[in-house]
Amino acid sequence: MNFNKFRKLTAFSIAFTLVIPLWGCGSDSTSDLSVVDNETVLSNEESIVGVDEVKKYPITDNGIPIWDFDEYVNGEWLKEFEGSEATYATKYDDAYEIERSRLYDILNDSSLTDLPTDDPLYKTKYIYDQFYEENVNDSLNESLTAFLQPVYDVETLDDLFDLYKNKDYSYFCNELVFNITGGDWGDIDAVYSPVINDNLLNEYNNFVANPTDGSMTEIYANVEKLGIDQTEYIKMLSNLVVISQYLREYQNSYANGYKYQYFYKETFEQNNIDVPVFDIIEEFTEKEYNGPIVATENLFDFFDVLFCEDNLDALKDSLILNIIYDISFINSDWNRYEDEEYDNAFYFTISVSRDVLALEYQSRYFDEEKLKEIRQFVFAIKTQAQSVVKEFEWLSEKSMETAVRKIVLMKPSYGVSDHVYDLSDVVLSDDLFENFINIIKSRRKFSYSQLYYFDEERGTFFQNNFDVNAYYNASLNNITLTTGLLTELLETDMTYEEKIAELGMTVAHEISHSFGPSCIYFEGDGYYDQWMTDEEINEYDDRIRRIIQFFDGKETEYFDPINGAYYADETYADLMAMEICLRILEEQDNVDYDLFFKTFASRKATYYTEESAALLNGDNHLPAKFRINYILGQFPKFYEVYKIDEESPFYVPNLERLTIFK
Ligand SMILES: [Zn+2]
Repeated sequence: MNFNKFRKLTAFSIAFTLVIPLWGCGSDSTSDLSVVDNETVLSNEESIVGVDEVKKYPITDNGIPIWDFDEYVNGEWLKEFEGSEATYATKYDDAYEIERSRLYDILNDSSLTDLPTDDPLYKTKYIYDQFYEENVNDSLNESLTAFLQPVYDVETLDDLFDLYKNKDYSYFCNELVFNITGGDWGDIDAVYSPVINDNLLNEYNNFVANPTDGSMTEIYANVEKLGIDQTEYIKMLSNLVVISQYLREYQNSYANGYKYQYFYKETFEQNNIDVPVFDIIEEFTEKEYNGPIVATENLFDFFDVLFCEDNLDALKDSLILNIIYDISFINSDWNRYEDEEYDNAFYFTISVSRDVLALEYQSRYFDEEKLKEIRQFVFAIKTQAQSVVKEFEWLSEKSMETAVRKIVLMKPSYGVSDHVYDLSDVVLSDDLFENFINIIKSRRKFSYSQLYYFDEERGTFFQNNFDVNAYYNASLNNITLTTGLLTELLETDMTYEEKIAELGMTVAHEISHSFGPSCIYFEGDGYYDQWMTDEEINEYDDRIRRIIQFFDGKETEYFDPINGAYYADETYADLMAMEICLRILEEQDNVDYDLFFKTFASRKATYYTEESAALLNGDNHLPAKFRINYILGQFPKFYEVYKIDEESPFYVPNLERLTIFK
C-alpha cells in the first residue's frame, strides 16, 4: 500500500477548461459563426469577452503568421508565473479542489448513528474519526513495543521467515513485496518488486552527515519514543543501507540484461529455495496457489545472497525500521486538519477505502442522466476509433477482424474498480493500531485474491479513482475514467468542440494506447498474442519508426534532446486520438475548429522551470510545447484554420507530416 499524496505533481494530469454555458446539448453547442446576437451579449457581461467577430480563416496572430501555437494560446497565462515562486503549473486545477472538498464533506457529514455497523461507509467513517479521537496515541507506543517483540526474538532465518509469513507482519517486509498486476501475458500476475525505503536511507544520510540536525527528524521522534538511542538508530540504519544495496542491485537486474520469467512452486522446491514466497500468498488467501510469480531470471542467486544467516541482523533491523516507519503514519502529531497537505487521516482513509468513497461520491454528486451521456459519448469515440483502424490498408482481413474486435470489446470503467474493495472482512476495533493492522491485512488478502481470477472474471481493482485522469490497461483491455475526470466533465458546461477537446481527446488517447507499441500485441480479451503477420509487423514498425525519427534529437528549453523511442507510445496515442477527434468533428456542421484547437492547447498548457523540467524528463509524454505544436502540426486541418509561419520550427511541411493512419 502506498500512501501517496492525493494530489501529485504530474505532467499528465488532465487539465481543465473555460466555464461556458451548455453542457453538450447537440446543435446548440456547435458554434454559430455568422450571427452575434447583441441583446444576448449585452445581457450577459461574461459572454461579451468571449465573443469573436466572424472568424476569417486562416487565423493569424494580429495579422502575423503564428510562430508557436503554444505561445499564441497560452503565452499570457505562462507570463503570470515569471518571477514567481511557482515551479510547475497546469491551467486548470479546479477539479482536484472540487473533488477534495467533496471527499471532506462525505467524511465529515456521514453519521455513524445513521449507518448499520457493517456498512462499508460506516467502517470508512469510523476509521477516519478514530484519527481525531483524544489521546489516540497514548497506547500506541505500548502496542508498538509489544508488536516489535517477536522481531527482536528472532534467532534464526526460519524464525524470520515465520514472521514474513505471518499476516500481521508480512506487509512490513519490504524484501518480499509482490505487485499484483495485469501481467505481460494477460493474466493477473504477482510480480516480485522489493521496495527500498528512500526516506529511511535519507535518515541515514542526515544522521551520518550531521547528527545534531538529524536528531530531531519526524521519524526519529517516533523511534526515540521506543527507547532506541541515536547510536543504536544509526547502527540500524546502516544495516538497512546494506539490505537496500542488495535490493537496488536486484531492481537493476532487468536493465542489466536479465529477463523476466515465471517461477512456480516446484521450481522453488527443486532448487531448495525456502524463502516463503508461495506460503505468504496462500497464508492470505487461504487457498492453494499453483500459479507463478514473475521475477527476473537471477532471482534465486539474489535470494541466496540476501537471505543468509550473515544478514540476519540486518534483515531484522530492516523489518523493525519499516514497521516503525509505517506506523509513524498514525503515530504522528502533524496530521489532523491543521494543514490539509499533511492531513494523514484524510489521505489514509481515501487511500484504503477508495471504492467505498467513490460509490458514495457518485451517488451524492453525479447525475445519472449526465453519466449516461458520457457513456454514449465514449461509445461514439470507440466507434470512430474503429473507423480509423478499418483504414489500416496494410492489415489482412483476418487481422483487421482482430483489431476491430479489440476496440469493440474494450471495457470502460467509470470511477469505481470492477472488483470493489469494501472492507467487508475488517472487524473494527476501538484501537487505531489494531485497525491499521486489520486494514492492511484485509487489503493484502484482497489483492492476492486477484491471482485466482481468470478470463472474464479478471477486473480492475484498487484503481486510482481520485486522480483526474484516464488509463488504459492492456491485459484487461479496459479504459478507466477516474471519478476525478468525471467530476471535471460533469461540473463544466462545454460546447461540443470543447467536449471533444477535453473528454474526446482523453478517451481517444487511452483507446489509441491499445494500438501503441507497448500494447499492440494484446488481443481483445487482454491476452498476449502476436496476431499480426510478419509483413504486417513490418508495416506497423515502419509507422512507429517514422514517429521516432520525426522527434529524435529535437531540442526544447530545459529538456534533454528528445529520444524518439522513449516518447513513441504516448505520441502514437496523441496522434491517433487527434485523428479520431477530427473525424468526429468532420461529421458535424458548423464546427468551431479554432475553439477545438485552442481548448486542446489550453488543456496541455504547462508551466515549468529548469528544475521541474528535470523531473519531467522521466515522463514519456512529450514536453508540453512539443505536444501542442507537433501533434497539431501533423494535421492539414490545423493549417487550414491557422496561418502558421513556414519559417517556424513548428511548421511541418506537407511531405514531412506523419500520416501513419493509412
Ligand atoms: Zn497515454
